[in-house]
Amino acid sequence: MLLRLALLLVCLLPVVLCAEDFYKLLGIEKIASEREIKKAYRRLSKQYHPDKNPGDSSAHDKFVAVADAYEVLVDEEQRRIYDQYGHEGIEQHKRGGGRPGQHHDPFDLFSRFFGGSGHFGHQHAERRGPNMEVRISMPLRDFYNGKSTQFTIEKQAICSECEGTGSADGEVETCNVCGGRGLVIRRQQLAPGLFQQVQSMCDACGGRGQKIKHPCPVCGGSKVVREPETHELNIEKGMPKGVRLTYDNEADESPDWVAGDLIVHLHEQPAELGTEEADKTDGTWFRRRGHDLFWREVLSLREAWMGDWTRNLTHLDGHIVQVSRKRGEVVQPNTVEVVKNEGMPIWHQELPDGVEEAFGSLHVEYVVVLPDQMEKSMEKEFWAVWEKGRKKKGKIDLHKDSGRPAHDEL
Ligand SMILES: [Zn+2]
Ligand SMILES: [Zn+2]
Repeated sequence: MLLRLALLLVCLLPVVLCAEDFYKLLGIEKIASEREIKKAYRRLSKQYHPDKNPGDSSAHDKFVAVADAYEVLVDEEQRRIYDQYGHEGIEQHKRGGGRPGQHHDPFDLFSRFFGGSGHFGHQHAERRGPNMEVRISMPLRDFYNGKSTQFTIEKQAICSECEGTGSADGEVETCNVCGGRGLVIRRQQLAPGLFQQVQSMCDACGGRGQKIKHPCPVCGGSKVVREPETHELNIEKGMPKGVRLTYDNEADESPDWVAGDLIVHLHEQPAELGTEEADKTDGTWFRRRGHDLFWREVLSLREAWMGDWTRNLTHLDGHIVQVSRKRGEVVQPNTVEVVKNEGMPIWHQELPDGVEEAFGSLHVEYVVVLPDQMEKSMEKEFWAVWEKGRKKKGKIDLHKDSGRPAHDEL
C-alpha cells in the first residue's frame, strides 16, 4: 500500500512541478481566437493584479503566469510550438534566442492594456483618469431580500487588438515634423518687422507626436475603443438608498493614465403597479424610511368600529404578516400600529458587533372609509338604533365624551 502511494506520488510529481496549462490558466478553449485570448488576459490580469491583492503571493504568481500564457498564445509561432511541444518546447525556443524584444515584465504588458505604469498608481503619484459615476435603480424588494445581478456600461477601453499602440503592425514612428512633441512653432508677422512666435498643434501627426503607417483596423489608430463592460452588482440586504459602490480602476481607460474608479449610486426604483403576484411585493404598497417600512391598510367603518377582522399582508419576500382585531376592539382612523421586526433588515455594516441580524419596524397606518351611500332599508335600521340610543341617554354630550372644549358641541 505504502509502495503504491509512493508510486502515485512519483507519477504526480512531474505534473505538479510543471507550469499549468496555458489554455486552462486563461480559461479558454484550445481553438480560442486571438480576440478571446486578449479578452481572457484583460479579465484575469486585473483580477490577480498584486495591487488588488496585497500580501497574496499566490495572486502575484497567477498574475505572472497569466502574462506568460498570454505572451506565448498571442504569438502565432510560439503558440504553434506550445501546441506541439508544450512548455518544454517554449523553453527551448526561448533558450535558442527565439525572438528578441519580448517583454518579460508582466507589469509592462499590463500597462499596455490598461495604461499607466502597470500599477494602480495610488502610491506612484501617476496621472489618473476621471472617475465615472452611474446611477442604478433597483426595486425595494431587492434591498429587502438582497440580490446578485449584473450591469453593463459602455466605456472607453484601450484597444486590445493593437494593445494600445494604434498600429496594425506594432510599428510606431516618431513624427518627423514636430520631432515627437506634437507641437510646432510658427513665426507670424503682425506688422512689418514685427514677428510673433505662435505655438500650435502639429498637423502632420494630429498632435500625437507619432505617426502610424498602418493604423489598427479596430480603433483606427486612436488606441482606444468604446466597448460594453459587464460588472457584478451585489445588493446586500438592507443597503441604504443612495449607497455608493466603488469599482476600483474601472472607469475610462487611456494609454496616458491609470483608469479612475467607477462609482455606482444605488437608488430605489419608483414603484409600479404590477399585475403579477410577484410584482405586488415590489414595494408598491411598502414605503421605506431608513430601517422602517410603512404600509397603509384600509378598514371599513364596520371593521374599525366593531372589530373582528384579520388582514394578511404579503411582505417583500412573500412571507405573511398578520394584523387583526377581536370583536369589540375599535380602531381610530389614522392610528399607526408598529409591528416590531417587520421593517427592513439592518445592513450588516450598520449592525452592532456580535449581532448577526436585526430588523426595523413595520408601521401600519389604518385608514377608515365610510360608505358613500347605504341601502334604504339598512339606513332605516341604523337610524332607528341611533334614535333609540339618543332617547335612552338623552342628548349626547360630546364634551363629556371627547374632553373637547364646550364650543365644539354639536
Ligand atoms: Zn508631429
Ligand atoms: Zn487598435
